[in-house]
Amino acid sequence: MSTVFVDTFFPNASPLRWRQAEDGVVELFPIPDHARFSPNRQFTHWHLRLVLPAGDGRQTIPVRFATVMSCWNGRESAAMREEPAVGVVSADGKTWAGLTGRRCEREGFAVEFDVPVASSITHFASLVPYTEADLEALLARVAGVPDVRVYQMGATVEGRPLPMLEVGRSDAPESVFLRTQAHPWETGGSWLVEGLVDRLTDGSAASREILDHVRFCIQPMANRDGVHRGLSRFTVTGIDLNRQWDAAIPHDPVLAPESACLGNWFAEQARQGRTPRLAIDLHNDCGGNLHLAHPPQDEAGHLARMAVFERLLREHTWFREGPTGHGFRNPGTFGEGLSEQYGIDAIIWELRANHAVGLGRQPLAADWRQMGSGFAQAAYRFLCETR
Ligand SMILES: [Zn+2]
Repeated sequence: MSTVFVDTFFPNASPLRWRQAEDGVVELFPIPDHARFSPNRQFTHWHLRLVLPAGDGRQTIPVRFATVMSCWNGRESAAMREEPAVGVVSADGKTWAGLTGRRCEREGFAVEFDVPVASSITHFASLVPYTEADLEALLARVAGVPDVRVYQMGATVEGRPLPMLEVGRSDAPESVFLRTQAHPWETGGSWLVEGLVDRLTDGSAASREILDHVRFCIQPMANRDGVHRGLSRFTVTGIDLNRQWDAAIPHDPVLAPESACLGNWFAEQARQGRTPRLAIDLHNDCGGNLHLAHPPQDEAGHLARMAVFERLLREHTWFREGPTGHGFRNPGTFGEGLSEQYGIDAIIWELRANHAVGLGRQPLAADWRQMGSGFAQAAYRFLCETR
């Protein structure tokens, strides 16, 4: 049997080692990325290309992932334990289909997939990739569109620009903030933002009404270096951008400029009296819940308003997972820090990655785009009903 080549030398490709085993299966040995001065590490992102030699007629390429250990909040666990085990596959890197794997019985391995072959290069990833090229295409598409503004907030550790994308009248009375890809593998929020921006700029009367009342402020692809390098969670300096949002401690502008420039942006909005009333950090996990905050001031009000938000999401989107139990706390996150510092409703929204309850299947890019379209109305109604 001819040998498959595994290409991991392109933007957003995941670092990993590989070999083709004696039984013909491509064995993948993931490399987790690491937190700075902490045992935390994570492997959840894979993105690679399986390349076949000319004339190779096989229909599928069997692959299996070696077991690697992740560590979250100091707790070790094997990566790839989520059920169902899913990935995505594409013949052209643009149109992706879902793919379900299975537990691997072989010692030292976690999950295996039969990857269908549709061309000489088969693209294989954990979630539908959203790369810098996708972000640049979005920014180019909205350049010059009325009520859309793009400006640079800062740069990453490696010098990549960090844009702020604003959609809505600059003097709109209300603002909503969204951040995406603080954790590079979690692309669902980026696809949601694509659907949101397309909806808001569709020229309809309903969108016009929203744009007149709400300014949507979006920091897309916060961990841009990590996206470029195919990391799962941390930045290249080992920072988790969804930690250290403590009111009393500013972000380190050298180690975490991605958080520092956003912290400065919030401070400037507050100085102008324009702090967004709703701030959402978009993530992916296998639970899919809203992670509510525990602000020391007006916690009951926060919970009551988030109940309104949850109802509106259910009305306008296919979101069905609900909030975490209120006993769940994750100190130092974006939601906890900003809600305490500014008294706003700031939460983490984990889009369920592997099986959406409201769809009854694995969500793909088009589903998150649709969710973003519905989110426009849900966010607008939220601001109206909780004014
Ligand atoms: Zn995350």
